[in-house]
Amino acid sequence: MSWDQIVGHRNVLERFQKSAQRNRLASTYLFVGPSGIGKRTFALKLAQSLLCTATAESELNACGQCPSCQQVMSGSHPDLITVAKPADKTIIPVKIFIGDDKHRRQEGLIHDLGLKPFYGGRKFAIIDDADYLSALSADTLLKVLEEPPPNSILILIGTSPHKQKETILSRSQVVHFSALSADQVMDIIQRNGQIEGEVDLPKVVEAANGSVELAIRLSDPDLLDFVDLLYSQLASLDPARDDFTKTLGAFVDSAGKDSKLKRQRLFEVGDFAICFYRDLLHRSAESNDLQPNLAAQGSAALDRFRQTGFSTSVTQQAVAACIRRTLTMQSEIHANAMPANMIANWLVDLGRLCRAEASFEMV
Ligand SMILES: [Zn+2]
Repeated sequence: MSWDQIVGHRNVLERFQKSAQRNRLASTYLFVGPSGIGKRTFALKLAQSLLCTATAESELNACGQCPSCQQVMSGSHPDLITVAKPADKTIIPVKIFIGDDKHRRQEGLIHDLGLKPFYGGRKFAIIDDADYLSALSADTLLKVLEEPPPNSILILIGTSPHKQKETILSRSQVVHFSALSADQVMDIIQRNGQIEGEVDLPKVVEAANGSVELAIRLSDPDLLDFVDLLYSQLASLDPARDDFTKTLGAFVDSAGKDSKLKRQRLFEVGDFAICFYRDLLHRSAESNDLQPNLAAQGSAALDRFRQTGFSTSVTQQAVAACIRRTLTMQSEIHANAMPANMIANWLVDLGRLCRAEASFEMV
């Protein structure tokens, strides 16, 4: 796989190319950006380029042929450690970093990263789902961040710097990945054949706000219709209007009898809301508009906002506050069952924040 096969993220690639040429690669990076846009694929490609035994590190290119390159592709490279949140867990268990009770410090990511590189080059570790590091896991990582093993590179992959503990944030170089354009998402989906059946692809791609992962999830027509309505509500500056609290409640209830399924569904709705707001922020930042309003072009989320006639009155700061409010709502879902008026409070607060009737600290 060459860099050409990675869609988007040219600015990030250029940044790493410059660092590699100057021999100034950091030991810890935190990749952030919407989920499903290729951060993990980028991290693997970076690892392959730096571990390739046939090319110089300064080239930041992988030959794709040497044993090292092939082992990265097959997931069996001895100097590349990859971990992620197990599907049945809500956090990444600490044993993944320091081994289980019987093998404390004798296995796990931290132990393995400290071993001598098999190929004599670098040791590389990728922690996916870093939004789900437990407090204990974050603490165990501290020592590695403060005293990284020689020639090691650790990449944490999450969605937002706000989801990281300050101890990790302050010791990482943060790399921001932007949402993909609708054309890029369409390109990836069609190339990989990831969505099949009778699906309104252009509508799916528009609603996915630049995320391939969300596009794939939205191939469920019921979800697509709901998310379409959600975005219209968010863009109206009064998300709770027209009894939307009830509509959302019913949608959450329809996930199944099990309260876990309901919690997951509400969490997912939060993901889509964040995706909507984040798209607004990205596009307005990319337009280099110095006014703190949302005046960028080319965003489906922004077009919806414009149709309401309010777009110029909403600041980037207010949108960022809506993202934080949504993250808080999601953390409340994990903390306990869902409080009775959680949905109503969230929607009302989003409206107040957008209409500048409240700041995040006040809600
Ligand atoms: Zn190679």
